[in-house]
Amino acid sequence: MTAPTELLAPAVLAERVGTEGARRRTFAIISHPDAGKTTLTEKLLLYGGAIHLAGSVKARRAARHATSDWMKLEQERGISVTSSVLQFDYEGFKVNLLDTPGHADFSEDTYRTLIAADSAVMLLDNRRGVEERTRQLFEVCHKRRTPIFTFVNKCDRPGMDPLQLLDDVERDLGISLWPVTWPIFDMDRFVGVYDRLTKHVLLFERGEHHGAEEVATIEGGLDSPEILSHASEGALAHLREELELLDVGLGDFDRDAFVAGQLSPTFFGSALTNFGVEPFLREFVQLAPAPAPRPATDDLVEPNDPRFTGFVFKIQANMDPKHRDRMAFVRVCSGRYAAGMEVKLVRTGKTLRLAAPQSVMARERSAVDEAFPGDVVGIVDKGTLRIGDTLAEERDVVFGDIPRFPPEHFSRVLATDPMRRKQLDTGLKQLSEEGAAQVFFTEPDAKLGSGPSPIVGAVGQLQFDVMLFRLESEYGAPAKLESLGYGHPRWVVGPKADIERVGSGHGRLLVYDVKGNPLILFADRWAMRSTLDRETAIEFRDSAP
Ligand code: GDP
Repeated sequence: MTAPTELLAPAVLAERVGTEGARRRTFAIISHPDAGKTTLTEKLLLYGGAIHLAGSVKARRAARHATSDWMKLEQERGISVTSSVLQFDYEGFKVNLLDTPGHADFSEDTYRTLIAADSAVMLLDNRRGVEERTRQLFEVCHKRRTPIFTFVNKCDRPGMDPLQLLDDVERDLGISLWPVTWPIFDMDRFVGVYDRLTKHVLLFERGEHHGAEEVATIEGGLDSPEILSHASEGALAHLREELELLDVGLGDFDRDAFVAGQLSPTFFGSALTNFGVEPFLREFVQLAPAPAPRPATDDLVEPNDPRFTGFVFKIQANMDPKHRDRMAFVRVCSGRYAAGMEVKLVRTGKTLRLAAPQSVMARERSAVDEAFPGDVVGIVDKGTLRIGDTLAEERDVVFGDIPRFPPEHFSRVLATDPMRRKQLDTGLKQLSEEGAAQVFFTEPDAKLGSGPSPIVGAVGQLQFDVMLFRLESEYGAPAKLESLGYGHPRWVVGPKADIERVGSGHGRLLVYDVKGNPLILFADRWAMRSTLDRETAIEFRDSAP
């Protein structure tokens, strides 16, 4: 057990915060379902020494299903609802992998988790390239200038020509790719990669355990005797040709462009067979940014500032049926988080004693004594904290960059038991404050608890399912949803008469958010586009003003 903050001498504290923060690498994987995120995650843990035989992540997940009633929903749908954080050590670095739900259905949590990451790894299937979900998640990162790596997976089986694939991705996403590793094929068989930064060839030997153990590797320069004796002449000749093309076409690696989110270091590999996973991890820890200064009110918060700051990016209820409380996930931005410390919840000015910080490794709770910039800690919360809240020690900064994401689906929520309308409203109010639901009304001054049934909005269908589950299990308010058939929300600013006229037209619906801001929902994209073009007296925005 390490001493709480006040017992560390200031110089010692400052030094520890600086060195610990500098070795953190906090990232998320963005991908379309089936690209291999679970498999890659397992292999990263394998190389990080966190698991010895890959395959145990899935196995543990299955075992936990049996014991947790919150997870009933996951089990019924066979998907992962929650995001957790996996931490492992690699070559002196502490790597935090923020796990995001991987199913086609997802929720605002997926987006918000990206806000807590310092970089992202875009995982692509070598046959499919950029897919719909990849594109959506990429956009969130790109808008925020998050540095993005690219990992082209499944190279053990035939896919698109690598040069063609790079070209397609660049054209589709408007980002430049810079291959750090390049795949080596011998008669169409994936046998290794060339690392363009270390100028080393890595040849892999297919293991007997289907990738459950680290892969045996032969490493050396292109002309070294080990490589020449293990690789075929044809494969090396082809590699040389391609490397020349890349060198001429791409120039040197531009780190500034990478850090600005404009250039993506790219890797080729196979998560299934482990080929190329370690070369990726090795370069990743070197290239990925440590926690950077974060914009807050008035100022940037420097990660090595010894005063603790962090923000809540996710709140999760009922993770453990034995503890019916909630867990707020806090990304540490500066200073040291220590067991028992007092921090200010800046929104209310109240002091909170963080008596029971929790690490959120793989969803199992265990107490942690301390955490540093880049880490994520879970705080057991009885309803005090909200998404976006800043916690700070001895100062009043507020991190202002945790956006809400506009819902894509809207439904009216109806109590199945009319006697329980009150419970329903209480539940919705709390879920809305917590960031788990977005509530809207058809009347301008409506409040929960009166008037017509409220409308809820969600980013994905899954968010609705979680909402209904929680309304019933936590608030005793069974409810059902009636889809409105509208989406494509646009917040509107302009003369009231114009807004009401436009909002009452065919294929449009005028609603109000909980702060009373008007927005118009559209039946389809076409109706939205034509209205935006025609109605010049109104300003349409894709997020709340
Ligand atoms: P996720 O949905 O992105 O988490 O994908 P999974 O990791 O569950 O993988 C989806 C499917 O692709 C599974 O059948 C994996 O065995 C397979 N897969 C993952 N990585 C590779 C790979 O490198 N090569 C091949 N051939 N299959 C892979």
